[in-house]
Amino acid sequence: MQTKKKDIRALTKEQLRDFFVSQGDKSFRGNQVYEWLWQKSAHSFETMTNLSKETRQMLEDNFVINHIKVDQMQRSKDGTIKNAVRLHDDLVVESVLIPTSTRTTACVSSQVGCSLDCKFCATARLKIMRNLNPDEIYDQVVAIDNESRLYFDRPLSNIVFMGMGEPLMNYNNVLKAIDKITSTEGLGMSPKRITVSTSGVPKMIRKMADDGVKFKLAVSLHSAIDEVRTSIMPFNAKFSLADLRKALEYWYEKTKSRITYEYVVWKGINDTQFAVDALVDFCRFAPSKVNLIEYNPIDDGDFRQAPDSAIQMYVNTLERNGITVTVRRSRGKDIDAACGQLANKQ
Ligand code: SAH
Repeated sequence: MQTKKKDIRALTKEQLRDFFVSQGDKSFRGNQVYEWLWQKSAHSFETMTNLSKETRQMLEDNFVINHIKVDQMQRSKDGTIKNAVRLHDDLVVESVLIPTSTRTTACVSSQVGCSLDCKFCATARLKIMRNLNPDEIYDQVVAIDNESRLYFDRPLSNIVFMGMGEPLMNYNNVLKAIDKITSTEGLGMSPKRITVSTSGVPKMIRKMADDGVKFKLAVSLHSAIDEVRTSIMPFNAKFSLADLRKALEYWYEKTKSRITYEYVVWKGINDTQFAVDALVDFCRFAPSKVNLIEYNPIDDGDFRQAPDSAIQMYVNTLERNGITVTVRRSRGKDIDAACGQLANKQ
């Protein structure tokens, strides 16, 4: 009977070294394989040319490399690229490359589908299927880094966890992926160039603070009034803004790292002076930045982008209160690659 082969990238370097010792080989073979798996992102054992044929065969007999496959790549008029990424079990997630004149940002997924229920987000309509493994997150980043080198002649510069899923609901795997991305044994990127975006899970924000993580935190707030936030992000009923704020205060106390709030202004939902004032109140406790993001319609009549005058009211009030604010235009809308549009339409 054939036993099921193990995913080799679920092993730590230590475990790989131990495996080779258990096979009567030298432990440093483990280091060599580890380097192939992570730094060189090998797709097969065959390509590990500094190992003997027998060793490669032995690995083949015991393990699999569950590398992702970019099934389809779409390019937007504005240069944005969307990858449909097939996983080893044939599920599909999406990741996006967002170029500017000086940077390339990768927007990666952390789950297949999403367990949250934000009414304005296309991903929320897909049921949660499963969490992504650390290597599946890592592979998305490598794929985008390769595309950046190929099409823009420069390496990837930033990563945002703003694709499909809620990263804090898959915290351990996201953390492991970031460890690999930032390690010199992986991509060696600075954690300061990585932003984890969350809809705000208080318990996990505290955990991140306790873990002393070095990446940046963004919170998808969209409203600082419980009643309104619960109506558009129903899980807010469970957590509440007071809890979220306490967790964020704790985060700031521990990390001294500025918090970014993502915020869409919708017509008739949060386009009032009262709503802006609540936002100012909510984020006053720590240095904050508000990203006003454009709404990307997802065939839902309930949500409409507020007019420019409402955006201007937000900008004026926030600036007057010393809060940094940016107005972000969407990228990649023509290929359904913008915020909230990732839903495996193909
Ligand atoms: N679950 C995480 C990350 C994924 S969503 C989070 O909630 O932060 C990434 C960002 O896109 C979030 O700020 C989310 O609120 C926003 N978003 C979702 N749907 C959108 C839409 N239709 N238009 C614009 N932004 C949207």
